[in-house]
Order: sequence, then structure tokens, then C-alpha cells
Amino acid sequence: MSIPNNPELDFALKTVEQASAIAQAVYAEMANSSLSKQDSSPVTVADFSIQAYIAQQLAESFPQDALVAEERSAMLREASAAASLKAVTEYVSKLLPAADANEVCRWIDLGGGEARGRFWTLDPIDGTKGFIRGDQYAVALALIEDGVVQLGVLGCPRLKLPEFEQMGILAFTQKGHGSWVKPLGTDVAPKKLSVSTHQKPEDSVILRSFETGHTNPRRIKKVRERLSIQPEAVLMDSLAKYVALAAGVGDVVLRIVPDANPKRREKIWDHAAGVLMTEEAGGRVTDMDGKTLDFSQGFKLEKNRGILATNGPLHDSFLGVIKEILND
Ligand code: AMP
Ligand code: MG
Repeated sequence: MSIPNNPELDFALKTVEQASAIAQAVYAEMANSSLSKQDSSPVTVADFSIQAYIAQQLAESFPQDALVAEERSAMLREASAAASLKAVTEYVSKLLPAADANEVCRWIDLGGGEARGRFWTLDPIDGTKGFIRGDQYAVALALIEDGVVQLGVLGCPRLKLPEFEQMGILAFTQKGHGSWVKPLGTDVAPKKLSVSTHQKPEDSVILRSFETGHTNPRRIKKVRERLSIQPEAVLMDSLAKYVALAAGVGDVVLRIVPDANPKRREKIWDHAAGVLMTEEAGGRVTDMDGKTLDFSQGFKLEKNRGILATNGPLHDSFLGVIKEILND
């Protein structure tokens, strides 16, 4: 299996690499200043700047393709956000000199495309809480065609893998062509990713959200007890979890719907790139009920609840126990 090479992947690699540099610059220069969205989740200058930049580049490179992305400019246009809009405009204009406040807002809103046919999905900063905290986050871009994830690129500036000495990795995958990783900002040859070969549930390392409200720690604890799992779970924000799984650093990504919100459905940009990355590294991904993830249902995974991604051999043991504890 060789490293894929095509205009879509080149585009995604180039823009996610640049976007990861924006995120690092925002973090270094603005630390943790953030705005609060309606659902009280935070959004930063980095989220807006990256979405504006990638949306503009996509419109230029693939004008026929829709973009389905997480952020909207409405909040940034409010008088109270003037300083943030100014900062976003400055960051974007370093890469796109034509940027002004209006253009930046217009580019951000290009992310309101329809999730139908062929489209791209972007989470400019997945794990914004991790980004602000100084922990993991990911710039996540994927291409979906008729409900099938075709390629995915993840920029993880704070992820360290055993394969490389430096922190900060760019992971990419294309359907049928494997999953690959290289250090961010280098020309180092990419290495192929492979999931772990662990067979015993009791020795498995679970990767789960750092934020307790994003998953279900109570039920994850039960899964651990039923399977007599010994290793501590790894708490990690963002799609970086899937990269760790694809690299064999962990064995299982488990997301069980929160007790507070059992009807919650996942957003496609929080999973698309990571799901393909896992599968192409030899792993398996379903929802908590064992169903394939259906990316043809708009911007949410309406037909699925929760996520179970594993190295493959461990999948059925976990599914069986999850089924039991959901009935508890
Ligand atoms: P993680 O990094 O695993 O904590 O997941 C981050 C993603 O969780 C964000 O991009 C949100 O889309 C999603 N999220 C935010 N709030 C919730 C919630 N209450 N329950 C489940 N997922 C959430
Ligand atoms: Mg997200």
C-alpha cells in the first residue's frame, strides 16, 4: 500500500498544516481568551480564523464542493466581539492578504453548506476545551461522498507518538490507501499507522473524553468492571483519540451517550476523519449498538448513538458488555 497522491488530499494536507500553525500561534499569543456559544461551549479566535481560512481556500480550489463546518459568524459580528473579529482578521490576513472583517465573516459562513452528495466537513478546532486548557485538540477535515468518508486529515499539534521524537503530528487517510502520519511542519517521510493487536479485554487501554459531560463516565466504569480492565483509561480531548487508536497507543475509543442527554447525536465533523483513520489502520468502528455509522443523514449521525472504535479483535467483547450495561 503506497501513500496516496491526489489534488483533494494535497489540498487537505496543505490547509490542515497551515491551520495547525494558526492554532499554535493563537495559543501562544492569546492564551485562553474565548467567547461562549449559546450552548455555553467555548469558541476561540483560532476556531474562527481556521474556518475562514480553510473555507476560502476550498472555495478557490474546489468551487463545486460544499463545506459543512462547525462555526458561524453571527457571534463574531456582535459589537461585544469586536476585539475577537479584529484578531481573527489579522490572523487570516497573514495567509490571505485580501481578508477584511466582512470577508472573514463571509468565508466562515461558507461552512453552512448542505451535507449531501459530495461535501467536506470541518471542525476547525475539535476539543476547544482541551485547546484552552493546554491539552489535546485537533484540526479535522474530511471529504464525504454519498455518505462514504473518502479521506480525512487531522492536525494534532500537541500529540506525541512513539514513531517520532517531536510533538505535533499530521495524520491522514484515504479510503483503500491506509492511514499515515508524519510530524507537523516537516518533510519527514510519512509512516503507516496500524492498530494494536491486543486480544484480551482486561489488558485494553480505553481512550475517552477528558470532559466528563461529553461521555458517560458512570457507564464506562461499568464496562471496565465487567471486562476486568486493568490499565487506567486515557482521558484525551478531540479526534486525537482516533489517531492514538490508529497508532496502537490505545485499543478502544469509547463514547457512551451522557445520562443527562441520552438523545444526543454526534456531529459528523467530530468523527468522520477519525473513523476512516481507524478503519484504514485495521480497526473497526460502530455505534454502541453495533451499527455502522451512517454519514448520509445530514450534519449529525442521526441514526447512531454513541461510538465504539476498536483495534478489531476487541470489538465484540466490548459490544456485548455495552449492550448489557445499557439495559441496567
Ligand atoms: P471530546 O474532545 O471527546 O470531549 O469531544 C469534543 C466534542 O464533543 C465537541 O466537538 C462537541 O461537538 C461534543 N460535545 C459538546 N458537548 C457535548 C455533550 N454535552 N455531550 C456529548 N458531546 C458533546
Ligand atoms: Mg468538535
